[in-house]
Amino acid sequence: MNHVFKKFPIIISMLFIVSLINSCCPRNISNDYMLSAIAWKQTSAEARALSYQAFGIARYRFDEIKSEYNGSKPLAVIVDIDETVLDNTPFEAALILGDRSHPANLRQWTDKADAPAIPGALDFLNYVNSQGAEIFYLTNRSEKDKTATMKNLTIQNFPNVSETSVVMKTDQPDKTGRIQTIAEKCSIALIIGDSLGDFGGFYSRNLTIEQRAELVESKKDAFGAEYILLPNPMYGDWEKTIYRYQRNLQNSEKRKLLKSVLNAFSR
Ligand SMILES: [Mg+2]
Repeated sequence: MNHVFKKFPIIISMLFIVSLINSCCPRNISNDYMLSAIAWKQTSAEARALSYQAFGIARYRFDEIKSEYNGSKPLAVIVDIDETVLDNTPFEAALILGDRSHPANLRQWTDKADAPAIPGALDFLNYVNSQGAEIFYLTNRSEKDKTATMKNLTIQNFPNVSETSVVMKTDQPDKTGRIQTIAEKCSIALIIGDSLGDFGGFYSRNLTIEQRAELVESKKDAFGAEYILLPNPMYGDWEKTIYRYQRNLQNSEKRKLLKSVLNAFSR
């Protein structure tokens, strides 16, 4: 008994050190639930083909809209940035391989300005630019990231990158107001994004899975016509919806919630 009491201070000290390590340092957490999404995005020819398909439809629609347009405002195309024209999969892959959670090293990645272009985006936007239409890069990256974002777009040779054409997040993540501001001066031909929130009036935070589906059903004719959507199986509001907008969930909790929404047949 005495022996145990002698060791008691040592045990308490060890517990204190363990809790200190847990509170101050990134924990060893498994991000494996994102593994196949990132592998698909980075390696599948299908992901590449889907990007070409999206920008191919965008060009087809842009030509149609332009040929029918006789308004006085200039035509404009709005593109989201992340996973629409710039590919952040190297950042997502580094999280997986480093066993870290978002947003670890996000600033480092953004400052590097090294995200490659999404296939098809550059050709499409150069075409839009050559046709005399305006281009707006409408992102929910923060104002602090504007210089690095403009640098990244410029390095990748995107056209018409300027202080006014690159529109960062305001106090509102909802893009509707910023789209309306652009619409005051331009006639918006197309909006291209990887998330419903990229399209005006589609801001879907705090909605349920069913409500998001209903929102798309109510405007289904707009997709492929006014709105062009690229695939993003890695992250987005679709994922936050499953987590019921809870932040800082452990990966085990995320995995549990992801499994809970699956629709499986019963044998
Ligand atoms: Mg995006």
